[in-house]
Amino acid sequence: MNMDRTLKLKLELSDEDKESLMQTVVLFNQVFNEVAEYGFEKRTHSKVSVHNATYKDIRGRHPELPSSLIQGARDVACEALKGVKLKRLPESRPYSAIRYNKRVIRIVFEHGFATVASINGRVKVSFSIPEYYEQYIDWETRSSTLRYDIRNDVFYLHVVIRTESPKPSGDTVIGIDRGIVNIAVCSNNVFFNSKEVKNTRAKYAYLRKELQSKGTKSAKRLLKKISRKERRFVTDVNHCIAKEIVNMPFDVVALEDLTSIRVNKRRGKNFNRKLNNWSFYQLEQFIRYKAEALGKQVVSVDPRYSSQKCSKCGHTYKGNRDGSSYRCRNCGFQIHADLNAARNIAQACISCLSRLSVNQPNVGISVTQDVTQ
Ligand SMILES: [Zn+2]
Repeated sequence: MNMDRTLKLKLELSDEDKESLMQTVVLFNQVFNEVAEYGFEKRTHSKVSVHNATYKDIRGRHPELPSSLIQGARDVACEALKGVKLKRLPESRPYSAIRYNKRVIRIVFEHGFATVASINGRVKVSFSIPEYYEQYIDWETRSSTLRYDIRNDVFYLHVVIRTESPKPSGDTVIGIDRGIVNIAVCSNNVFFNSKEVKNTRAKYAYLRKELQSKGTKSAKRLLKKISRKERRFVTDVNHCIAKEIVNMPFDVVALEDLTSIRVNKRRGKNFNRKLNNWSFYQLEQFIRYKAEALGKQVVSVDPRYSSQKCSKCGHTYKGNRDGSSYRCRNCGFQIHADLNAARNIAQACISCLSRLSVNQPNVGISVTQDVTQ
């Protein structure tokens, strides 16, 4: 099974290179329109027959456009004709996004640059990769689309990347970090972050505040109704997340143990918010019973240091984490902070299970383990 993702990269360019790319985009779209017109008139979307009839002529008139881009424009035009079943003429605007196939682009993610074919030869473009993109670096690059944002005068490269299936980080264990910003982050790089959830909850919080300040009888009634609605909403979200998590290809789900420890000032504000938030318990319960139904195991691990420890080298330092980003002072590893925590939770579970399996073949459901060990 293949899994595709699209990375959106904002390109940094010199004015000269920007001009080259703009002219390339315009010419590509012009060729698209010429080819589409031919196919439309001759009632064909066959790439071969359109190619034979148009390529030489176009190449002769636009020698500056690399032949791979001419072929790319032809392919896109034929696909568009096919898509509308030749019922109407597909048209490109001068700045429509253009597709680059592998032959006309080379992307070096780890060094943040790409070379892109243009009417003036290859143009080198650079981009910065947000830290959470690092998880995709070893994915296979498929097609790329170059898009010009006229309003902001910026070029974007949309890169479709592919991997065979969700990459397990640990043989059979998936670690889950539950949080405020991201409801759940899984050690296999899946984030459950929903703006919708945040917006809806903010709306309810606002309504609650308004009604509480009124304090009338009808306001109290409404308050109860709203609380019920909000709970139902959160319950639905938790059901969906739990279902997706337990259906991932892992046998063991590792969670932070939120019940074994009591509220403690030293654990920090975020942690106390986690403890006090009933929806985290609910999500856990849903994961537990859905996992059980599938014959999977749920393991609780000690959450201490899961957010401070480097999931790559094990170095534990509070200052490594800064909001949602994690950067290890020891090995330089950079990663989304919640993903780092999720990987630590998975690792803690793996080392705990391997130690336990020496002594007892049947591991119990709840195991507490210190992440620092
Ligand atoms: Zn490190």
